[in-house]
Amino acid sequence: MSITESTKPIPMPDDESRPFFEGAKRHELMILRCRACDHPMWPASHAGSLPVNPRCHKCFAAELDWAVATGKATLYSFVVMHQPYPGFENDVPYNIALVELEEGVRCLTNVVGCDNSDLRIGMPLEVVFEDLSDEVSLPKFRSAT
Ligand SMILES: [Zn+2]
Repeated sequence: MSITESTKPIPMPDDESRPFFEGAKRHELMILRCRACDHPMWPASHAGSLPVNPRCHKCFAAELDWAVATGKATLYSFVVMHQPYPGFENDVPYNIALVELEEGVRCLTNVVGCDNSDLRIGMPLEVVFEDLSDEVSLPKFRSAT
């Protein structure tokens, strides 16, 4: 691990997000699925410090199950960051990508292994995992063409 990597903030799994991070550690991309209507959701929208009980965004049911996503996706939108925020100075310019999973869920991530000038809306992507520490791996995406 380079010094640059170690200066980046590393997410802290909490009780609500733990299944997501345990999945990422196994290199499985975890999403939430409503038990009542099968609506898929990206779990990060529930993670954080707010004491909320996650509910289905579609039917408001409270019973949500964790499911393994296929990891197949397309690039929905992206920006290229030039601002050197602390910990990311050596990465600029880097992309922040809004990726749509095959399941229909969108998430914010990075497309790796690809020049920013080669990014195209709608390009097929597949998940890859970046191991940040013994505890935390993060899903990123790479071109699947
Ligand atoms: Zn539902």
